[in-house]
Amino acid sequence: MVWDDELHEECGVFGVFHHAQAAMHTYFALHALQHRGQEGAGIATSDGVKLYCHKGRGLAAEVFRGRELDRLPGENSIGHVRYSTAGGDVPENVQPLMARSQIGSIAAAHNGQIVNANVLRQRLEEQGSIFFSSSDSEIILHLIQRGKGSMMDKIAAACRQMEGAFAFLVLTEHSMYAVRDRHGLRPLSIGVFDGGYCVSSETCAIEAIQAQWQRDILPGEIVKFSEQGVQSCFYTAERTHHLCAMEYIYFARPDSTLDGINVHTARRKSGVLMAQKDLSAGLAADIVVGVPDSSLSAAAGYAEVAHLPNEMGLIKNRYVGRTFIEPTQEQRDLAVRMKLSANRDVVCGKRIVLIDDSVVRGTTSQRIIRLLKEAGAREVHLRIASPPLWWPCFYGIDIATRKELISAHMDPDALAEKIGADSLRFLGVADMEQIYGRDRCCYACFDGNYLTSLYDHEEEVRTT
Ligand code: SF4
Repeated sequence: MVWDDELHEECGVFGVFHHAQAAMHTYFALHALQHRGQEGAGIATSDGVKLYCHKGRGLAAEVFRGRELDRLPGENSIGHVRYSTAGGDVPENVQPLMARSQIGSIAAAHNGQIVNANVLRQRLEEQGSIFFSSSDSEIILHLIQRGKGSMMDKIAAACRQMEGAFAFLVLTEHSMYAVRDRHGLRPLSIGVFDGGYCVSSETCAIEAIQAQWQRDILPGEIVKFSEQGVQSCFYTAERTHHLCAMEYIYFARPDSTLDGINVHTARRKSGVLMAQKDLSAGLAADIVVGVPDSSLSAAAGYAEVAHLPNEMGLIKNRYVGRTFIEPTQEQRDLAVRMKLSANRDVVCGKRIVLIDDSVVRGTTSQRIIRLLKEAGAREVHLRIASPPLWWPCFYGIDIATRKELISAHMDPDALAEKIGADSLRFLGVADMEQIYGRDRCCYACFDGNYLTSLYDHEEEVRTT
């Protein structure tokens, strides 16, 4: 990670049921989901008799370097890419997590964050459970193992005890289960290929293995894949539909379609809205520059409406090491220069509308604006394709604490001055609702309306 200021997703999951090349397809799908987590990757498979697993720290290509896939037999598999906030970057937290008990072997791969994890973990430990990791995802395994009835019943009972964001896959010797929390905070879709099924955090991975999207898993739904076919049930009647808005704004790949909305199209609309506001306000500019990569779609929408050239004013170096965390200011500034360069011939002497997706601590925006101005930009008007971040996320996105969120403590004009922008405007929550629909997404990090109780985290919100 170069930036001290980036948002981080906490994982992507992918599963295959009933395909001769289950592990290989999962491996390639994990590449398509790599943007959701770069610190760990793993695949578990089942051959109908037992489970197999290979996992490790690093990118999928680093974890699977040689013949590991050959040692993952079977037609069913689940895979995971991880970013390591919940529980820390330690080997035992890399997923899929595996367990063996009187109910057989199971593997689980989880995307999201369980907000009542501490309460549940303490209760499970008092009842004798021994945890082998510090990941909140392990709670899923323990709750399932303690359930009664069929595996579907056990998973449903586990889900009713958990609160927060979870989209997870469970693999047993004979079946695969795919589950989405009752608010649908994290995405999960089903695809079909060659007579088999796949399940993915994002549709881009379904496309990557040449499967066809079939449908999205609904909030609160448990889907079972077995030799008997596909069965589905809901673990609760209390369901809403609130996909994380940040999936659209920042995390998901532009070629993914989440709950019926294409990510590129949604980002483009945010650029259109920002341009319409600036046109009404009479902003004069020469070019539009999007911060690569997640802001390029919004920049395209802005440029089209404002009738301005959409220029490649910033170039991203894709080969900068992801573990580049440097402690001093000077080293951080150098790291930004390694990752992003201003295209001097394009930006020199220009009044630039700079489009970015979000402002967290403000340090990255400040450095990018400095880069552009040092390259001769005459003016830099920063437009952010999301509302100001005022609240932390407890649903699986590593946003920082409220104390660190600069917009929570500074109005846009003061912030513009601090980061060196000639002007700064954000989209509003009402604009987001215009793009994604009213009451259709979680906007809690913008408006503080969390969808659940926050349990241990209540204190953090109240006191900061
Ligand atoms: S609080 Fe923000 S980042 Fe977290 S789930 Fe809601 S919209 Fe996404």
